[in-house]
Amino acid sequence: MVSMYVCGPTVYDYPHIGHGRFVLVFDILRRYLISQGYQVRYVSNITDVDDKILAKADAEGVAPAEITNRYEEIWWETMDKLRVLRPDSTPHATQYVEKMATFVAKLIEEDVAYQLNDGIYFDVSTVSDYGLLARQSLESLRAGARVDEDRGKRSPADFALWKFFPNSTNSYVTPLGIGRPGWHTECVVMARDILGECFDIHGGGLDLAFPHHENERAQAIADGAPFANYWIHNGFIVVGDEKMSKSLGNFVTLPELIGDGDPRSYRLLVLQSHYRSPLEVTKNTIGDATSALGRLDNFSRRYFDAIATSPELAADFETSSGAILDAFVEAMDNDLDTPKVMALLFSAIASANGGFDRGDLTSAIAEGSQIIRIIKALALDIEEDEAAIPPDVMEIFHMRLAARDSKDFATSDRLRDELASRGYVVEDKKGISTIRRS
Ligand SMILES: [Zn+2]
Repeated sequence: MVSMYVCGPTVYDYPHIGHGRFVLVFDILRRYLISQGYQVRYVSNITDVDDKILAKADAEGVAPAEITNRYEEIWWETMDKLRVLRPDSTPHATQYVEKMATFVAKLIEEDVAYQLNDGIYFDVSTVSDYGLLARQSLESLRAGARVDEDRGKRSPADFALWKFFPNSTNSYVTPLGIGRPGWHTECVVMARDILGECFDIHGGGLDLAFPHHENERAQAIADGAPFANYWIHNGFIVVGDEKMSKSLGNFVTLPELIGDGDPRSYRLLVLQSHYRSPLEVTKNTIGDATSALGRLDNFSRRYFDAIATSPELAADFETSSGAILDAFVEAMDNDLDTPKVMALLFSAIASANGGFDRGDLTSAIAEGSQIIRIIKALALDIEEDEAAIPPDVMEIFHMRLAARDSKDFATSDRLRDELASRGYVVEDKKGISTIRRS
């Protein structure tokens, strides 16, 4: 069992392209672990308590819940289109306010938090290795902090666990006082509540490493919990220079980016870069990914067409094995080297296509079954009904086979032409006939 906690969205607007990258990176990791036989427990939260939500609700003159419900619905629709598996648990901040308040009270009791006029703050000096995820010492973090942010805090790096808003209708009444919880407290309380004191992987975008994850970790460590064993952060999105960002036009939100074409293109683009590297998302890079996806789909159709017409050759790709799959596992085990995986996938496709072209179906299908298994593990697979040849076309194909067997070549040729007019090519090689889309 592998336990994962990945910080989810604050639901006050459309998901952006950066959201798309992090959900895909962690979906790829989760699916890979599952493909290798692990059970994965995947938790990702929804932040539905936040000042940005309240500002939007005020601007529109609606209740905050109307904003969060609307954008959470858009979030899940977008995730489904991207084929991102739904989390096993999706805790909402609004359901955890009481637990957060209890946790903050405990931190005060443990003398690692203190109260000021506007809220309750965490004392970062109580955590000896604070700055671990920022890769900076507390001294350099202190020196870099803005003085005007200091509201009488013991250290400029101290952060709010709870903020007092005694006169707001959007406040929660708790033993701590009337107010709202801080974001950093949300994730640490939810992760420990659902996954326990120690879990395997905590993930999120690089922008969350500091201060969000640093501060989550600080609270857990101060409270005596080991917390996450591994921290994984994916790199930023680059949208090109200013000219390029203008030409991106409607590529501002994630639904617009993937609404334009096949949502798998963005998944493929994400796979083509290493998860820790910056990723350039432009019309050009998305266009290249769409062409590459076309090559994958063409191969998938060719493979499924071949095993539909020569079932005696069909290999069970679920149990297939071989050098291509071994290379896939080796690359993924090496810190998720997905660019290497994509390179080996396309070179394997070139080799298997060579087999099909030569009429060497046995080797083409042996390679193809491994290729299809990798494509499925990466969730880049073509829809099943799109991959399958329609039954009426298969009927004509079988009529042609019968005509050919009885040496009725006139009928055989006529049926072949009919298939061609419907967009299918029939090939006869080494006594075996196959059909595929032209
Ligand atoms: Zn978080």
